[in-house]
Amino acid sequence: MSDCEFASPLTVQEGLEIISRINKEVTFISGGTDLVIRLQSGKLKPAWLIDLSQISELKFIEEVEGRIRIGSGTTFSQIAESSLLQGKAQCLSQAASQVGSTQIRNRATLGGNIANASPAGDSLPALLVLEAWVTIQGPKGSRRVSFAEFQAGKGLGLKGNEIITEIDFPVWESSEKTRIISAFGKLGSRTAVSIARLNIAARVEVDSEHDTIVKSSWAVGALGRIPFRLEELELELQGKGINSDLARQTADRLTEVVDRAIPGRASQEYKRLAIRGLAFDMLSDLFPELINRSMGVL
Ligand SMILES: Cc1cc2nc3c(=O)[nH]c(=O)nc-3n(C[C@H](O)[C@H](O)[C@H](O)COP(=O)(O)OP(=O)(O)OC[C@H]3O[C@@H](n4cnc5c(N)ncnc54)[C@H](O)[C@@H]3O)c2cc1C
Repeated sequence: MSDCEFASPLTVQEGLEIISRINKEVTFISGGTDLVIRLQSGKLKPAWLIDLSQISELKFIEEVEGRIRIGSGTTFSQIAESSLLQGKAQCLSQAASQVGSTQIRNRATLGGNIANASPAGDSLPALLVLEAWVTIQGPKGSRRVSFAEFQAGKGLGLKGNEIITEIDFPVWESSEKTRIISAFGKLGSRTAVSIARLNIAARVEVDSEHDTIVKSSWAVGALGRIPFRLEELELELQGKGINSDLARQTADRLTEVVDRAIPGRASQEYKRLAIRGLAFDMLSDLFPELINRSMGVL
Protein backbone atom coordinates (compact mmCIF):
# COMPACT_ATOMS: atom_id res chain seq x y z
CA MET A 1 0.00 0.00 0.00
CA SER A 2 2.94 2.37 0.54
CA ASP A 3 3.23 3.49 -3.09
CA CYS A 4 -0.48 3.85 -3.63
CA GLU A 5 -1.83 7.24 -4.76
CA PHE A 6 -5.31 8.16 -3.54
CA ALA A 7 -8.11 10.44 -4.73
CA SER A 8 -11.58 11.03 -3.36
CA PRO A 9 -13.68 12.88 -5.96
CA LEU A 10 -17.02 14.46 -5.01
CA THR A 11 -18.68 13.97 -8.41
CA VAL A 12 -18.54 11.35 -11.18
CA GLN A 13 -17.27 14.06 -13.55
CA GLU A 14 -14.41 14.91 -11.19
CA GLY A 15 -13.58 11.20 -10.90
CA LEU A 16 -13.49 10.81 -14.69
CA GLU A 17 -11.27 13.87 -15.04
CA ILE A 18 -8.80 12.43 -12.53
CA ILE A 19 -8.79 9.12 -14.41
CA SER A 20 -8.14 10.85 -17.75
CA ARG A 21 -5.39 12.99 -16.26
CA ILE A 22 -3.41 10.18 -14.64
CA ASN A 23 -3.88 7.81 -17.59
CA LYS A 24 -3.01 4.72 -15.49
CA GLU A 25 -4.99 1.74 -14.29
CA VAL A 26 -7.00 2.68 -11.21
CA THR A 27 -8.80 0.63 -8.56
CA PHE A 28 -12.11 1.91 -7.23
CA ILE A 29 -13.26 1.57 -3.66
CA SER A 30 -16.89 2.05 -2.60
CA GLY A 31 -17.82 0.42 0.71
CA GLY A 32 -14.49 -1.43 0.84
CA THR A 33 -16.01 -4.63 2.27
CA ASP A 34 -14.47 -6.78 -0.46
CA LEU A 35 -11.58 -4.59 -1.48
CA VAL A 36 -10.03 -3.93 1.92
CA ILE A 37 -9.64 -7.68 2.50
CA ARG A 38 -7.76 -7.98 -0.80
CA LEU A 39 -5.60 -4.96 0.04
CA GLN A 40 -4.82 -6.24 3.52
CA SER A 41 -3.85 -9.67 2.23
CA GLY A 42 -1.39 -8.03 -0.16
CA LYS A 43 -3.07 -9.77 -3.13
CA LEU A 44 -3.87 -6.41 -4.63
CA LYS A 45 -1.33 -3.60 -4.87
CA PRO A 46 -2.96 -0.77 -6.79
CA ALA A 47 -0.94 2.19 -8.02
CA TRP A 48 -4.05 4.38 -7.80
CA LEU A 49 -7.04 4.03 -5.50
CA ILE A 50 -10.11 6.14 -6.25
CA ASP A 51 -12.67 6.37 -3.47
CA LEU A 52 -16.23 6.57 -4.81
CA SER A 53 -17.87 6.72 -1.39
CA GLN A 54 -17.96 10.53 -1.23
CA ILE A 55 -19.91 10.88 -4.48
CA SER A 56 -23.43 11.67 -3.29
CA GLU A 57 -24.94 11.52 -6.80
CA LEU A 58 -24.29 7.72 -6.76
CA LYS A 59 -26.58 7.21 -3.75
CA PHE A 60 -30.26 7.24 -4.63
CA ILE A 61 -33.32 5.06 -5.15
CA GLU A 62 -36.12 6.48 -7.29
CA GLU A 63 -38.95 5.56 -9.62
CA VAL A 64 -38.94 7.43 -12.93
CA GLU A 65 -41.25 6.77 -15.88
CA GLY A 66 -41.98 3.15 -15.17
CA ARG A 67 -38.47 2.20 -14.09
CA ILE A 68 -36.74 1.92 -10.73
CA ARG A 69 -33.28 3.51 -10.70
CA ILE A 70 -30.66 2.84 -8.03
CA GLY A 71 -27.31 4.64 -7.74
CA SER A 72 -24.36 2.26 -7.62
CA GLY A 73 -23.17 3.75 -4.31
CA THR A 74 -26.42 2.90 -2.53
CA THR A 75 -25.76 0.61 0.41
CA PHE A 76 -27.59 -2.64 1.12
CA SER A 77 -29.01 -1.07 4.30
CA GLN A 78 -30.58 1.69 2.19
CA ILE A 79 -31.90 -0.88 -0.30
CA ALA A 80 -33.33 -3.11 2.44
CA GLU A 81 -35.03 -0.16 4.14
CA SER A 82 -36.49 1.38 0.98
CA SER A 83 -40.29 1.18 1.04
CA LEU A 84 -40.30 1.60 -2.76
CA LEU A 85 -38.24 -1.60 -3.16
CA GLN A 86 -40.10 -3.45 -0.41
CA GLY A 87 -43.28 -2.81 -2.39
CA LYS A 88 -42.10 -3.17 -5.98
CA ALA A 89 -38.91 -5.27 -5.97
CA GLN A 90 -39.24 -7.54 -2.95
CA CYS A 91 -36.59 -9.97 -4.16
CA LEU A 92 -33.91 -7.25 -4.20
CA SER A 93 -35.07 -5.85 -0.88
CA GLN A 94 -34.94 -9.33 0.69
CA ALA A 95 -31.53 -10.07 -0.85
CA ALA A 96 -30.17 -6.78 0.55
CA SER A 97 -31.52 -7.52 4.02
CA GLN A 98 -29.69 -10.88 4.04
CA VAL A 99 -26.25 -9.55 3.05
CA GLY A 100 -23.69 -10.04 5.83
CA SER A 101 -24.26 -8.24 9.11
CA THR A 102 -25.63 -4.78 9.89
CA GLN A 103 -22.09 -3.36 9.77
CA ILE A 104 -21.46 -4.91 6.34
CA ARG A 105 -24.83 -3.76 4.98
CA ASN A 106 -24.14 -0.20 6.17
CA ARG A 107 -21.05 -0.05 3.94
CA ALA A 108 -21.48 -2.62 1.16
CA THR A 109 -22.89 -1.13 -2.05
CA LEU A 110 -24.89 -2.54 -4.93
CA GLY A 111 -22.25 -1.34 -7.42
CA GLY A 112 -19.52 -3.08 -5.43
CA ASN A 113 -21.50 -6.32 -5.33
CA ILE A 114 -21.90 -6.23 -9.13
CA ALA A 115 -18.28 -5.23 -9.87
CA ASN A 116 -16.92 -7.80 -7.43
CA ALA A 117 -18.83 -10.45 -9.45
CA SER A 118 -18.72 -13.23 -6.88
CA PRO A 119 -20.68 -16.28 -8.13
CA ALA A 120 -22.57 -16.04 -4.81
CA GLY A 121 -23.23 -12.26 -4.77
CA ASP A 122 -26.69 -11.94 -3.23
CA SER A 123 -28.02 -9.09 -5.36
CA LEU A 124 -27.15 -10.83 -8.63
CA PRO A 125 -29.97 -13.42 -8.98
CA ALA A 126 -32.44 -10.69 -8.00
CA LEU A 127 -31.07 -8.36 -10.70
CA LEU A 128 -31.41 -11.17 -13.25
CA VAL A 129 -35.10 -11.81 -12.52
CA LEU A 130 -35.85 -8.08 -12.38
CA GLU A 131 -34.22 -7.79 -15.85
CA ALA A 132 -31.92 -5.01 -14.68
CA TRP A 133 -29.65 -2.80 -16.78
CA VAL A 134 -26.34 -1.31 -15.73
CA THR A 135 -25.09 2.18 -16.63
CA ILE A 136 -21.34 2.53 -16.89
CA GLN A 137 -19.24 5.66 -17.30
CA GLY A 138 -15.61 5.82 -18.25
CA PRO A 139 -13.05 8.14 -19.78
CA LYS A 140 -14.33 7.16 -23.24
CA GLY A 141 -18.01 7.92 -22.52
CA SER A 142 -21.02 6.18 -21.07
CA ARG A 143 -22.94 3.04 -22.02
CA ARG A 144 -25.87 0.99 -20.78
CA VAL A 145 -25.94 -2.79 -20.94
CA SER A 146 -28.35 -5.44 -19.67
CA PHE A 147 -27.09 -6.97 -16.43
CA ALA A 148 -27.35 -10.47 -17.96
CA GLU A 149 -24.97 -9.48 -20.78
CA PHE A 150 -22.77 -7.46 -18.45
CA GLN A 151 -22.11 -10.37 -16.12
CA ALA A 152 -21.63 -12.84 -18.98
CA GLY A 153 -18.60 -10.79 -20.06
CA LYS A 154 -17.98 -11.22 -23.79
CA GLY A 155 -16.60 -7.69 -23.93
CA LEU A 156 -19.66 -6.18 -22.24
CA GLY A 157 -18.32 -6.24 -18.67
CA LEU A 158 -16.21 -3.47 -17.15
CA LYS A 159 -13.36 -2.25 -19.33
CA GLY A 160 -10.36 -0.21 -18.17
CA ASN A 161 -11.21 2.35 -15.49
CA GLU A 162 -14.98 2.30 -15.96
CA ILE A 163 -17.34 3.13 -13.09
CA ILE A 164 -20.73 1.49 -12.61
CA THR A 165 -22.97 4.49 -11.92
CA GLU A 166 -26.53 3.19 -11.96
CA ILE A 167 -28.73 0.08 -12.02
CA ASP A 168 -32.29 0.24 -13.34
CA PHE A 169 -35.15 -2.16 -14.05
CA PRO A 170 -38.83 -2.01 -15.00
CA VAL A 171 -41.42 -1.53 -12.28
CA TRP A 172 -43.08 -4.94 -12.28
CA GLU A 173 -46.56 -3.90 -11.25
CA SER A 174 -49.68 -5.94 -10.62
CA SER A 175 -52.67 -5.20 -12.85
CA GLU A 176 -56.41 -5.73 -12.42
CA LYS A 177 -56.17 -9.38 -13.49
CA THR A 178 -52.69 -10.40 -12.45
CA ARG A 179 -50.47 -9.87 -9.43
CA ILE A 180 -46.69 -9.81 -9.53
CA ILE A 181 -44.68 -11.03 -6.57
CA SER A 182 -41.02 -11.75 -6.08
CA ALA A 183 -38.83 -13.33 -3.42
CA PHE A 184 -35.22 -14.19 -2.60
CA GLY A 185 -33.80 -17.04 -0.52
CA LYS A 186 -30.33 -18.14 0.43
CA LEU A 187 -28.39 -20.74 2.32
CA GLY A 188 -25.13 -19.87 3.92
CA SER A 189 -22.79 -21.46 6.41
CA ARG A 190 -23.88 -18.92 9.03
CA THR A 191 -26.87 -16.97 7.80
CA ALA A 192 -26.06 -13.54 9.25
CA VAL A 193 -22.49 -13.04 8.07
CA SER A 194 -21.92 -15.61 5.42
CA ILE A 195 -21.54 -15.52 1.70
CA ALA A 196 -24.32 -17.63 0.24
CA ARG A 197 -23.60 -21.25 -0.60
CA LEU A 198 -26.71 -21.15 -2.69
CA ASN A 199 -29.06 -18.31 -3.48
CA ILE A 200 -32.17 -18.01 -5.58
CA ALA A 201 -34.59 -15.31 -6.71
CA ALA A 202 -37.95 -15.54 -8.43
CA ARG A 203 -40.45 -13.10 -9.91
CA VAL A 204 -43.88 -14.56 -10.60
CA GLU A 205 -46.94 -13.16 -12.38
CA VAL A 206 -50.10 -14.87 -11.15
CA ASP A 207 -53.54 -14.89 -12.77
CA SER A 208 -55.54 -13.70 -9.77
CA GLU A 209 -58.84 -15.13 -10.97
CA HIS A 210 -57.66 -18.64 -11.84
CA ASP A 211 -54.76 -18.85 -9.36
CA THR A 212 -52.34 -19.96 -12.07
CA ILE A 213 -48.86 -18.81 -13.06
CA VAL A 214 -48.88 -16.61 -16.14
CA LYS A 215 -45.11 -16.14 -16.28
CA SER A 216 -42.19 -16.55 -13.93
CA SER A 217 -38.48 -15.76 -13.87
CA TRP A 218 -36.05 -17.74 -11.73
CA ALA A 219 -32.31 -17.33 -11.18
CA VAL A 220 -29.78 -19.16 -9.00
CA GLY A 221 -26.33 -18.20 -7.77
CA ALA A 222 -23.34 -20.11 -6.38
CA LEU A 223 -23.81 -22.97 -8.84
CA GLY A 224 -21.37 -21.80 -11.49
CA ARG A 225 -19.07 -18.97 -12.54
CA ILE A 226 -22.00 -16.57 -12.67
CA PRO A 227 -25.63 -16.75 -11.51
CA PHE A 228 -28.01 -17.89 -14.26
CA ARG A 229 -31.69 -17.88 -15.25
CA LEU A 230 -33.64 -21.15 -15.19
CA GLU A 231 -35.39 -20.95 -18.55
CA GLU A 232 -36.61 -24.58 -18.59
CA LEU A 233 -38.31 -24.19 -15.22
CA GLU A 234 -39.79 -20.86 -16.31
CA LEU A 235 -41.38 -22.51 -19.40
CA GLU A 236 -42.58 -25.52 -17.46
CA LEU A 237 -44.36 -23.44 -14.82
CA GLN A 238 -46.35 -21.40 -17.34
CA GLY A 239 -50.07 -22.01 -16.73
CA LYS A 240 -49.51 -24.18 -13.62
CA GLY A 241 -51.89 -23.95 -10.71
CA ILE A 242 -50.73 -22.75 -7.30
CA ASN A 243 -50.90 -26.08 -5.47
CA SER A 244 -48.74 -28.69 -3.77
CA ASP A 245 -47.84 -30.18 -7.15
CA LEU A 246 -46.17 -26.87 -7.99
CA ALA A 247 -43.94 -27.18 -4.92
CA ARG A 248 -42.91 -30.73 -5.80
CA GLN A 249 -42.30 -29.93 -9.47
CA THR A 250 -40.23 -26.85 -8.67
CA ALA A 251 -38.15 -28.77 -6.11
CA ASP A 252 -37.56 -31.62 -8.59
CA ARG A 253 -36.45 -29.27 -11.36
CA LEU A 254 -34.15 -27.35 -9.02
CA THR A 255 -32.56 -30.62 -7.91
CA GLU A 256 -31.88 -31.42 -11.57
CA VAL A 257 -30.34 -27.97 -12.01
CA VAL A 258 -27.88 -28.73 -9.20
CA ASP A 259 -27.07 -32.15 -10.71
CA ARG A 260 -26.34 -30.59 -14.10
CA ALA A 261 -24.38 -27.62 -12.69
CA ILE A 262 -21.99 -29.37 -10.31
CA PRO A 263 -21.89 -33.10 -11.18
CA GLY A 264 -19.48 -35.03 -8.97
CA ARG A 265 -18.58 -31.96 -6.88
CA ALA A 266 -18.21 -32.59 -3.14
CA SER A 267 -21.02 -30.12 -2.45
CA GLN A 268 -23.46 -31.72 -4.92
CA GLU A 269 -25.26 -33.94 -2.42
CA TYR A 270 -25.62 -31.12 0.10
CA LYS A 271 -26.81 -28.62 -2.50
CA ARG A 272 -29.33 -30.96 -4.16
CA LEU A 273 -31.01 -31.48 -0.76
CA ALA A 274 -30.62 -27.86 0.29
CA ILE A 275 -32.20 -26.49 -2.85
CA ARG A 276 -35.41 -28.47 -2.15
CA GLY A 277 -35.71 -26.75 1.22
CA LEU A 278 -34.93 -23.44 -0.39
CA ALA A 279 -37.62 -24.07 -3.03
CA PHE A 280 -40.16 -24.70 -0.31
CA ASP A 281 -39.14 -21.54 1.58
CA MET A 282 -39.36 -19.47 -1.60
CA LEU A 283 -42.76 -20.81 -2.57
CA SER A 284 -44.04 -20.33 0.99
CA ASP A 285 -42.88 -16.74 0.77
CA LEU A 286 -44.46 -16.20 -2.65
CA PHE A 287 -47.67 -18.10 -1.85
CA PRO A 288 -48.23 -18.29 1.93
CA GLU A 289 -51.47 -20.18 1.28
CA LEU A 290 -49.39 -23.04 -0.15
CA ILE A 291 -47.70 -23.88 3.16
CA ASN A 292 -50.53 -25.89 4.62
CA ARG A 293 -51.38 -27.57 1.35
CA SER A 294 -47.86 -28.85 0.67
CA MET A 295 -46.54 -29.82 4.06
CA GLY A 296 -44.62 -33.04 3.72
CA VAL A 297 -44.55 -32.98 -0.07
CA LEU A 298 -40.89 -32.06 -0.34
C1 LIG B 1 -18.05 -10.41 6.61
C2 LIG B 1 -18.54 -10.25 5.20
C3 LIG B 1 -19.81 -10.75 4.88
C4 LIG B 1 -20.29 -10.62 3.59
N1 LIG B 1 -21.52 -11.12 3.31
C5 LIG B 1 -22.00 -11.01 2.05
C6 LIG B 1 -23.27 -11.56 1.75
O1 LIG B 1 -23.99 -12.10 2.60
N2 LIG B 1 -23.72 -11.45 0.47
C7 LIG B 1 -22.97 -10.83 -0.51
O2 LIG B 1 -23.41 -10.76 -1.66
N3 LIG B 1 -21.75 -10.32 -0.25
C8 LIG B 1 -21.25 -10.39 1.01
N4 LIG B 1 -20.01 -9.87 1.28
C9 LIG B 1 -19.21 -9.27 0.21
C10 LIG B 1 -19.37 -7.72 0.06
O3 LIG B 1 -19.87 -7.13 1.23
C11 LIG B 1 -20.26 -7.35 -1.13
O4 LIG B 1 -19.78 -7.92 -2.33
C12 LIG B 1 -20.39 -5.83 -1.31
O5 LIG B 1 -21.57 -5.56 -2.05
C13 LIG B 1 -19.23 -5.15 -2.01
O6 LIG B 1 -19.52 -3.77 -2.09
P1 LIG B 1 -18.48 -2.66 -1.62
O7 LIG B 1 -19.11 -1.35 -1.87
O8 LIG B 1 -18.00 -2.92 -0.25
O9 LIG B 1 -17.32 -2.95 -2.68
P2 LIG B 1 -15.74 -2.64 -2.55
O10 LIG B 1 -15.12 -3.59 -1.58
O11 LIG B 1 -15.51 -1.20 -2.34
O12 LIG B 1 -15.32 -3.03 -4.04
C14 LIG B 1 -15.49 -4.35 -4.53
C15 LIG B 1 -14.99 -4.40 -5.97
O13 LIG B 1 -15.85 -3.64 -6.80
C16 LIG B 1 -15.14 -2.54 -7.42
N5 LIG B 1 -16.09 -1.42 -7.40
C17 LIG B 1 -16.75 -0.96 -6.30
N6 LIG B 1 -17.64 -0.02 -6.68
C18 LIG B 1 -17.53 0.11 -8.01
C19 LIG B 1 -18.21 0.91 -8.99
N7 LIG B 1 -19.20 1.76 -8.65
N8 LIG B 1 -17.84 0.80 -10.28
C20 LIG B 1 -16.86 -0.07 -10.63
N9 LIG B 1 -16.19 -0.87 -9.79
C21 LIG B 1 -16.54 -0.78 -8.47
C22 LIG B 1 -13.89 -2.36 -6.59
O14 LIG B 1 -12.82 -1.83 -7.36
C23 LIG B 1 -13.62 -3.80 -6.16
O15 LIG B 1 -12.97 -4.50 -7.19
C24 LIG B 1 -19.49 -9.97 2.58
C25 LIG B 1 -18.23 -9.45 2.92
C26 LIG B 1 -17.77 -9.60 4.20
C27 LIG B 1 -16.40 -9.03 4.53
